[in-house]
Amino acid sequence: MQLLEAVPSKEYILVVDDTPPNLQLLLTMLKRKGYEAHGVTDGLVALSDIKNKLPDLVLLDINMPNINGFQVCQQLKSSDLTSEIPVIFISARDEVLDKVQAFAVGGVDYITKPFQIAEVLARIENQLTLQRLQKQLQEQNHRLKQEINSRIIAETLLQEANEKLGRLVNLDGLTQLANRRCFDEYLEQEWQRLAREQLHLSLIMCDIDFFKNYNDTYGHVAGDDCLRKVSLLIKQAVRRPADLAARYGGEEFVLVLPNTDVDGAILVAEVIRQKLSELAIPHEDSVVSEFVTLSIGVTSLIPKTDSLPSVLLTSADYALYRAKELGRNQTYKIG
Ligand code: GH3
Ligand code: MG
Ligand code: MG
Repeated sequence: MQLLEAVPSKEYILVVDDTPPNLQLLLTMLKRKGYEAHGVTDGLVALSDIKNKLPDLVLLDINMPNINGFQVCQQLKSSDLTSEIPVIFISARDEVLDKVQAFAVGGVDYITKPFQIAEVLARIENQLTLQRLQKQLQEQNHRLKQEINSRIIAETLLQEANEKLGRLVNLDGLTQLANRRCFDEYLEQEWQRLAREQLHLSLIMCDIDFFKNYNDTYGHVAGDDCLRKVSLLIKQAVRRPADLAARYGGEEFVLVLPNTDVDGAILVAEVIRQKLSELAIPHEDSVVSEFVTLSIGVTSLIPKTDSLPSVLLTSADYALYRAKELGRNQTYKIG
């Protein structure tokens, strides 16, 4: 018979009814159906039993001594631990007001005595199915939330990694200035822009004087340290957001100064030389000073769309060569 088919997992049902024959009948039929079932005849006993072992459903009589079914249900609904347990009222009281009250205190269904076994089982199974589905939904929801959280974390990490990569691709490892690659791209970009706008673009090329001697005298570690100090100073000398300082290679540095004419560029170059002299890094094997010095080539022009930024580089390189030739530790300008 279909009614007596066993349910897959044993769900625990607590039956509360102060009439022993009723209780026995209900328990017998529930156990036969495959549920785990336990019965009590008193509401207070029911409440303490429930705390010890949470049932999946409570079948609750209304008229009982000590504490009636409505009060039991109210107490169950007022505690987080038990509020989710479905309560089906089963009562001889067939008044509409009782039914309304049963739902008002949190009951999910109402069965009137005398009951049909098949109906009771169908209503129980109905509530348990609803409960199972609700639990599944809650679990799914929980899993989804966790998934969303881990995706957010993964995306943040990826973004951080990308930003780091972007910095690594554009930065010189030793000096933390922009590297050659970044400089080439930026010069090209600003060349095009200022060619369109017909405004000045200046380039400063710096080279540490007698740096080979510095390495030979103080060693490569001290040499690297000196490069970092000079780099920091150069970085601090560029103030406008559009200015870019880069390590061109070895002990050579370049500065791109958009919207700046030659006089403005010379000013920046002289600030760099001035600050370096204030830093007074000893260089006993330099021919031009007892401290580390820079030779600087400065050039400035208004770019043309039909020429290449290499024009500017060649010019700055030549200016630097002239600064070296004229005795080093000085700035030479073209433009
Ligand atoms: P000049 O005044 O004509 O510029 O002479 P110089 O000795 O500075 O120029 P040269 O081109 O002959 O030598 C440059 C030296 O810079 C050679 C190399 O030892 C040093 N150098 C280049 N890159 C680095 C670096 O990353 N670290 C260190 N410590 N030294 C470097
Ligand atoms: Mg050099
Ligand atoms: Mg040099």
